[in-house]
Amino acid sequence: MKVHILGCYAPYPPVNGAGPGYLLEHATAKVLLDCGSGVVSNLGQVCDLQNSDLSAVILSHLHSDHFCDLLVLRYARFMGMRAGQASPLLVLSPEQPPLERSLLPFLNTLDIRPIIHENTIDIAGIRFDFTRTKHIYPAYAVRAMVEGKTLVYTGDTAWQDNLVDFCQNADLLLAEASFLEKNKGANTAEHLSAGDAGRLAQAAHVKKLVLTHFWPADDLMAIREEARTQFSGEIILAASGLTIEV
Ligand SMILES: [Zn+2]
Repeated sequence: MKVHILGCYAPYPPVNGAGPGYLLEHATAKVLLDCGSGVVSNLGQVCDLQNSDLSAVILSHLHSDHFCDLLVLRYARFMGMRAGQASPLLVLSPEQPPLERSLLPFLNTLDIRPIIHENTIDIAGIRFDFTRTKHIYPAYAVRAMVEGKTLVYTGDTAWQDNLVDFCQNADLLLAEASFLEKNKGANTAEHLSAGDAGRLAQAAHVKKLVLTHFWPADDLMAIREEARTQFSGEIILAASGLTIEV
């Protein structure tokens, strides 16, 4: 399994950057985790946007910086369906909040199904399961497993102890590292710091840690150094265009 980093910034992208978007690829499976602003343009480099090349989209939660480009991606799917090249795109999403959830459908372009805590689903040969995280909106961490390899994506979350179990022995942990511990301030209840990401990786004995979900003004070298104080394994900073083998 590979993960293509299509975007890694929140809550808005810097110049030439993109919001959260991570394409998992294995054999014929291509599953997109989150679809922030600018992700569709980058997705076009690894997927044919108009046909059924993209297997599914999984939205960790419904903050607009994590799903806004899905509203554009469905137009590409519409054009593909009109040309007879595509079928409705499978989308897994939280059902709340209702206003944001109501924005997702467009004609019959999307086959939207709810994410259910601790449920398991097979998508094109990759097995996924989910656990609820601690965030303002209902949000989920995502675990993807195929051929003995495991990737976990934290989505957005404050620290919670059960994430350690969920991430246990993952080959790759894609973890939000939104800021340095000293800048955490009022964000304690909704996001992980770089130090938290490292602590999670160490406690869960993961093999490789990929840090992501950076604020545009973050000092990325300092973000990596802070994670390094907690985690002794390999640490990679997410960047658009990067492809990582799980
Ligand atoms: Zn976010």
